[in-house]
Amino acid sequence: MYGLNKQKSDLVARIKLLSPDTTAKEIVLIEKAFDFAANAHNNQTRASGNDYFTEHCVSVANHTLDLGMDYILVCAALLHDTIEDTNTTIEDLKETFNDEITGLVEGVSKLDKAQYIGNERHVESLRKFFISVAGDLRVVILKLADRWHNLETLQHLDPERQKHISTESIMIFAPLASRLGMGKLVGIINDLAFPFAYPEKYKQTKVLMDSQIKKSSGTITKMYRDLTVDLHIILGYSAKIDKRIKGTYSLYRKLERYDWDVERVHDLVALRAIVKNLNDCYQSLGAVHEHWRPIPNRIKDFIAVPKPNGYQSLHTTVFSGDGLNVEIQIRTEEMHEFDEYGIASHHSYKMDQFHREGSGSFAWVEQLREFQKADISPNDYLKRLSTDFIQDQIFVFTPKGDVIDLPIGATILDYAYALHSEIGEHASGGRINGKYMALKTVLNNEDIVEIVPNSKSHPTDKWLDQCITSYALGKIRRYIKKQHDLITN
Ligand code: MN
Repeated sequence: MYGLNKQKSDLVARIKLLSPDTTAKEIVLIEKAFDFAANAHNNQTRASGNDYFTEHCVSVANHTLDLGMDYILVCAALLHDTIEDTNTTIEDLKETFNDEITGLVEGVSKLDKAQYIGNERHVESLRKFFISVAGDLRVVILKLADRWHNLETLQHLDPERQKHISTESIMIFAPLASRLGMGKLVGIINDLAFPFAYPEKYKQTKVLMDSQIKKSSGTITKMYRDLTVDLHIILGYSAKIDKRIKGTYSLYRKLERYDWDVERVHDLVALRAIVKNLNDCYQSLGAVHEHWRPIPNRIKDFIAVPKPNGYQSLHTTVFSGDGLNVEIQIRTEEMHEFDEYGIASHHSYKMDQFHREGSGSFAWVEQLREFQKADISPNDYLKRLSTDFIQDQIFVFTPKGDVIDLPIGATILDYAYALHSEIGEHASGGRINGKYMALKTVLNNEDIVEIVPNSKSHPTDKWLDQCITSYALGKIRRYIKKQHDLITN
């Protein structure tokens, strides 16, 4: 099959380009994963009518490369749907591939168990679950690459699936990418999902956006030219300057906050200067303010005070002189790379030159392992992230796949109250993975739990010994007190 071999050699060529120190042995492994998965998915097609493996799996592998990942993730991406969608078992995989690769495929298959079913209350549980799975963030990154491609081919699915996948992407996957500091991917996911998730809002936003961009294009072009000259004079070199148009979803969120007054959005089109070092950032800001008058209180120093996810940059909004306010962002190459790739950026290639820095090892993966072990983090961002590795919690599923997070030791009764206090008050027992159990039964991670209600069942003093969460205990005490008050009054 010529097409398949061509795809394989293209993928290998791209890895060699992005990571020139990939060894011959590692290339062989990629080819092995490619052949194994192509064979497993043999003749499967997607909703588009195209071949499953070449359209989807190879694209996901390429997206892991887009995200700055290494050959291990490429192998796992090629194989990522073999357990879920083919006759391949985890044992089959283990016979051929190492624990690292099989672990990632197993992890990503596990994620498919949990779904966003439209319950806002449990969104945070689902995000936590995703991060906690396998304790390996690369699983999440693989899942994000998978979702990225699914969103790119969403037009082939029926409206119901489109709505579900797009909403889930905005509610769960984009915030996850944001938590990992992968700013570029957040924008990609939201903008791909937006037209399907909220079609009317998308249309409204797009109309405003297009007219506003048209209106500002002359001003922006002139400012771009002036800024290029100004910065060259002050810095003695040509800074990289980009025009950056805000994503449609991000604009929509802002419009919602500003009563749909697009004139109040100052960063629809921004100019972004990338300079060599910290000192040049502040020098450039000075030069900008010498040329254009800044709008008071719109100067933001995210270098001195980074955003919680680690984002660093100088932002200022200036009067352009012809009625338009324009945001200018100034940052170093490192800050820029971190904004785009987040935790995936530490090891990765320089933006334009395709060569890896330093030792070429995947430092951030090692770093993550280190601070998971030692619980010390190189900066606030990683510290925040480490608190998301929930060691003292379990995740259980409703029969529909909704995720509930509970502390270790939680019982069926705790779970019932976590679903809803009314469900708690009339619970009489529960089915754990299909088996009927008493309310006091302690739950295990990843149990599927269904509450068995009984209208005659209600909280009693005994229940206080059958649960541990403060929420359930509080609700039970209040119920008992209310009953008591009714009798004594
Ligand atoms: Mn997939």
